[in-house]
Amino acid sequence: MPAGSENLLISPATIKAASTGTLTISGPLNYRGGKRVEPVGDAGECVDVYEPATGHVICNFVSSGQQEVDLAIQSAKAAFQKWSQLSGLQRSAILLKVAQLIRERKNEIAVAESINNGKPLFQAQSDVEGSCVQIEYFAGLAPTISGQHIQLPAGSFAYTRREPLGVCVGIGAWNFPFMLACLKLAPALACGNAMVYKPSPFTPITAVMLAEILTQAGVPEGLFNIVQGGATTGELLCRHPDVAKITFTGSVPTGKKIMEMAAKTITPVTLELGGKSPMIIFSDCDLPNAVKASLLANFVNQGQVCCNGTRVFVQRDILDKFLEEVVKRTEAITVGDPLVTGTKMGGLINRPHLEKVLSYVKKAKEQGAKVLCGGEPFVPSDPKLKNGFFMKPCILVNCRDDMTCVKEEIFGPVMSVLVFDTEEEVLQRANNTTYGLASGVFTRDIFRAHRVAAALQAGTCFINNYNKNSTGLPFGGYKMSGIGRENSQVAIEHFTQLKTVCVEMGDVLSPF
Ligand code: NAD
Repeated sequence: MPAGSENLLISPATIKAASTGTLTISGPLNYRGGKRVEPVGDAGECVDVYEPATGHVICNFVSSGQQEVDLAIQSAKAAFQKWSQLSGLQRSAILLKVAQLIRERKNEIAVAESINNGKPLFQAQSDVEGSCVQIEYFAGLAPTISGQHIQLPAGSFAYTRREPLGVCVGIGAWNFPFMLACLKLAPALACGNAMVYKPSPFTPITAVMLAEILTQAGVPEGLFNIVQGGATTGELLCRHPDVAKITFTGSVPTGKKIMEMAAKTITPVTLELGGKSPMIIFSDCDLPNAVKASLLANFVNQGQVCCNGTRVFVQRDILDKFLEEVVKRTEAITVGDPLVTGTKMGGLINRPHLEKVLSYVKKAKEQGAKVLCGGEPFVPSDPKLKNGFFMKPCILVNCRDDMTCVKEEIFGPVMSVLVFDTEEEVLQRANNTTYGLASGVFTRDIFRAHRVAAALQAGTCFINNYNKNSTGLPFGGYKMSGIGRENSQVAIEHFTQLKTVCVEMGDVLSPF
């Protein structure tokens, strides 16, 4: 291991001893050329990184400027020359080693993620396991990446080469910090690319642990570099002329800016953006499952999930029964210390975001919605959590399609319940949005299920479940929820380009 465990960003012993309010990290958070480095050049803004459960500052970093971004890209360019020359099988072997090393440090990574993001430990563990699967999946595909042979007249022929793109920029959101980094790097590296990754400034830590593991697994130094920073650093990356591809996860407004920047150099983009997804519950559904799924669709990860089904349309005749069950279960959700077993919901990412989510609840009330439960700040009894960013999960009823809480992405634990009468009506209302990330339908009628799935304008439709995403399934948005797809074999197309090689086996025919 090039970096001994004493050189790791967080030692295994520190993580083992960590509880809420105790983790403090020092040292550089940028990663370049196979090691952690302080950014060089213009000193950008100094950013504090918070623990959502306590409000404690875990660490801080100086945002990367032009010179550091340039060095990271040049370092990735050099590594690309080596990595792209390996066979798919050789790349696969190294990626499998990466997955193995992540598994060995699974609990450490999950604890760091939980502390920095606020999500309950069980969820962070599941994210890390899912990340291993992503890497294994694309390690499996790496040796299969190939072109085609095409016969032409008179013995001539052509073949296609599926080639890597070069240096890809990955920019991530804060809701799944480790998983989003893996989701982007796994297909990129499997295809032979290098990557410069910028995590969200709110959650810069676990991507560094990932970079350390990649080095340990034997990728060329510089293949996966990390620059830390916010919008300014992100823009420097997106505008860089040596970048071959941008893969972005975040909000629609930022996605628009990224597309504009990429247009200047015709750089391909994958954009995974926000949503306001409909979940439609017909009265012939299995109600207990529909209730469970509506909670999954709204409260996992403190409600901070892009594909959440936050507009829950319930057919009129089962509304009362549905609400009774959903409220009972929502009130039973344990909110508190994310590292304590039994906690189902931790703190939101930061105080401004908590206030924004609460302001949506306030506005919903002003516009005529009724709060059936939650929607207010929460202070757990443990004194060390008194400055945490907690709220109680909220159910809103009496919602109308024109209310702000129904139209805008809240990105917090707030479920808006809407009532409907007919299939035709609900489809029109469900599709009446500029978003199109996901959707769901609950019914026992097999014909209706598939008819509705076909009619919903969204990249994913869950039938009789919700948020059942998996690496093997393409994931991405319709309309303003994004461009391109992540996960699955389709991702290979987004991280490669096709070259046609045309071979003449006879004489050249020419009118000249
Ligand atoms: P955001 O758009 O504010 O930031 C996302 C990332 O972009 C961060 O790393 C940020 O620093 C960077 N950034 C901000 N401005 C930039 C600019 N001008 N140029 C380049 N980079 C810039 O989003 P967020 O608040 O971090 O994340 C929440 C959003 O992400 C929600 O809308 C959510 O739905 C979406 N999201 C989508 C998916 C998906 O797969 N579709 C997954 C997770 C989150």
